[in-house]
Amino acid sequence: MNDTLIKNGLMVTASETFRGDILISKGVIVRIGSALDHPDVEVIDAEGRYVLPGGVDVHTHLNLTAGGVKVGDGFFEGTAAAAFGGTTCVVEHPGFGPEGCSLGHQIDAYLKEADGQAVTDYGLHAVFQHVTESVLDDLADLVQQGVSSAKVYLTYDGQLDDHQILKVLNRTGRMGVLTTFHAENDAIIGFLRGKYQAQGQLKPIYHALSRPDYCEAEAIQRILRLAQAAGDARVYIVHLSTASGLEAIASARSKGQQVYAEVCPQHLLLDDSCYEEPNHGGLKYIMAPPLRKQADCEALWQGLSDGTVDVVATDHCSFNFADKLALGKKDFSKCPGGIPGVETRVPLMFSEGVLKGRLSLNRFVDLVATAPAKIMGLYPRKGTLMPGGDADVVIFDPDKEKTITPETLRHNADYSPYEGMRVRGWPVLTMVRGQVVMQEDRIIAGKGLGKYVKRKLKPREQIQQE
Ligand SMILES: [Zn+2]
Repeated sequence: MNDTLIKNGLMVTASETFRGDILISKGVIVRIGSALDHPDVEVIDAEGRYVLPGGVDVHTHLNLTAGGVKVGDGFFEGTAAAAFGGTTCVVEHPGFGPEGCSLGHQIDAYLKEADGQAVTDYGLHAVFQHVTESVLDDLADLVQQGVSSAKVYLTYDGQLDDHQILKVLNRTGRMGVLTTFHAENDAIIGFLRGKYQAQGQLKPIYHALSRPDYCEAEAIQRILRLAQAAGDARVYIVHLSTASGLEAIASARSKGQQVYAEVCPQHLLLDDSCYEEPNHGGLKYIMAPPLRKQADCEALWQGLSDGTVDVVATDHCSFNFADKLALGKKDFSKCPGGIPGVETRVPLMFSEGVLKGRLSLNRFVDLVATAPAKIMGLYPRKGTLMPGGDADVVIFDPDKEKTITPETLRHNADYSPYEGMRVRGWPVLTMVRGQVVMQEDRIIAGKGLGKYVKRKLKPREQIQQE
């Protein structure tokens, strides 16, 4: 592999913006400076463009089956889409394995599934679906394999109860494993859904109405109390979607509790009026938690800019609209839940966040790359531009405009929840460990180039809470 020199770009990290060059050798950034020169080097001119650290999306589902249908993207399609959108590393949340399986079962299965497929690098979270001493003992092996976080669901079939959650947090907290939570109160959902079903209220909007904001807030408050009881174990709330949930997090933080929050673009940019889209179009937006009110979107934007929210991820789960329609047309509760998003995250956050004055350029980079890498144990190898780090680099054209349609996206889904949105600012080149994988909307190198990344147990840098 040739050495590469990226010249004349405007480099943007979470803390700095400067004009300069990056020298890359053997997949690693070796120098950053001005007017760099080097013999035998391939030069890429980034004049007029931003040079960003590759995006890190720490919440994807690239291999999921629900209600008998599979997501459109596997590890190849999904990570190719990621590369198109300026993301160079994903961390996948595996689905549940067979009943009673070990904690390592799904890690092994996903390592096999991803091998030779991925375009970008990838890590894996563990997932708890039941709790026994042996399951908890499995954690030590997983940490050796570079799995430094594990997920707990408070709803769905693999949900844990409070007793089990305490056992998990007691162990993960002591080990330094980060516990991530899907926070929704399952009893409230079941009760309200049953009520609406009995009344024959089966349209998509009832999906949102059966999962009200207090259903999330209650779950978050409970998680925070359980974490407190377990010696202040560090917790991470995935896809935070409500103002009231955000309030609970802000309050716990002000008392010194170690809690991180992730939001997804859908909860910033879309609201529950989408469920009324004609011709069953509302089914496109069936996901959990559901889309909320405008006031929730505004509160989450505020949380991003004031630092209460740490990470923007996607919960990418690309069920096709055709499947959603076939299964959910008569009853929202039969519709597979999940939407695609891995490809649109970085451009949307730039276009809607930076260009609309809601986020600074540096805060944008922090949210889509640096903070997720730090919190999930990938930093400083990933998530920033630094000598010694992987050369995961994105050349980003802040003036390139594209309207989102299924045809303008690389992902393997038949729709995008952001269809019709005019988005300004797109990657024109994406590099994974020094290899150009996407250039001008073409995949250059691909399948199998992406490798599994072992994540560290504790972030090397402490996350700064301003
Ligand atoms: Zn998810």
